[in-house]
Amino acid sequence: MNVPPRKLAAIAALIVALLTTWAHAGEVVNVYSYRQPFLIKPMFDAFTGETGIAVNVVYAKKGLIERLSHEGANSPADLIFTADIGRLTDAVNAGVTQPARSTALKTNIPPQYRDPDYQWFGLTARARILVASKDRVQPGELSTYEDLADPEWKGRICTRSAKNAYMVALTAAMIAHHGEAQAEQWLRSVKANLARKPQGNDRAQVKAIMEGVCDVAIINHYYMGKMMADKDQAAWAASVNMIYPNQESYGTHMNVSGMALTKSAPNRENAIKLMVYLSDELAQQMYAEQNFEYPVKQGVPWPGLLQSFGSYKADDLALAEIARHRRAASMLADKVGYDN
Ligand code: FE
Repeated sequence: MNVPPRKLAAIAALIVALLTTWAHAGEVVNVYSYRQPFLIKPMFDAFTGETGIAVNVVYAKKGLIERLSHEGANSPADLIFTADIGRLTDAVNAGVTQPARSTALKTNIPPQYRDPDYQWFGLTARARILVASKDRVQPGELSTYEDLADPEWKGRICTRSAKNAYMVALTAAMIAHHGEAQAEQWLRSVKANLARKPQGNDRAQVKAIMEGVCDVAIINHYYMGKMMADKDQAAWAASVNMIYPNQESYGTHMNVSGMALTKSAPNRENAIKLMVYLSDELAQQMYAEQNFEYPVKQGVPWPGLLQSFGSYKADDLALAEIARHRRAASMLADKVGYDN
């Protein structure tokens, strides 16, 4: 049989087109996420729009690392998303991750915000700041974490539990900067200055300042944005000044939300494509707008609200180093009876 070359070429083109469509239809990334849909779905949708790769997400508040452990090599998950260095390192320690050795990830994400062994990557950064009553604390009166240990603040500080991941990471950073003995003394002194038994979340501390229960508190910066945007909480935010601590020394303590490639990762290549996409300019900008968190990628423009908070010096202590002191930090909280 003699088929004209033009017809052959057309048939070949059709086969390629069919194969591409078929491959495309099957292209997915499966995600397990501790982060809520509104925080990540817009970026996943943008990724699918650009690449044709579908992103399937299982959202849960807890149990995802355990689920990965149980599923083992059969897990359909490619990526896990979570906030806080604590949970990222928990995933690594549980043995459910694998390194994602990508030059693009290494370029986009500064070294302090990623694991040196490529096991986890930070996607957004959050500053753990101080807030102080506009009425009862003068600007400049309080400027460092270390200040909180001063007797001047006796009966004037509110915080959440020292066993909470955000507080554990801050204490771990204090250990990294000052050593365990000094960090213990600091935590003991802050405890002695508390206005009430530790309770509630970050926002509850700001409410307590407005109500006159205390004068200063420690919170993650993005809660200021969230409170300002909430008609019932805007007054809480309006009652305090924001202080980015330790500008004259090591800078403000930072934490991340981030991601890790799972050990099983059936769609490994697509997963790494998504990781890189999320670390790039567009997604980084979207993240910052979504949750008022800071982009980790340098040079990405900040949305107006973050700009209004002002520029500041961030601690460049590696999160991996903070992670190494988390256990000791948590034990110090017990030792000084912080939550009692
Ligand atoms: Fe939070």
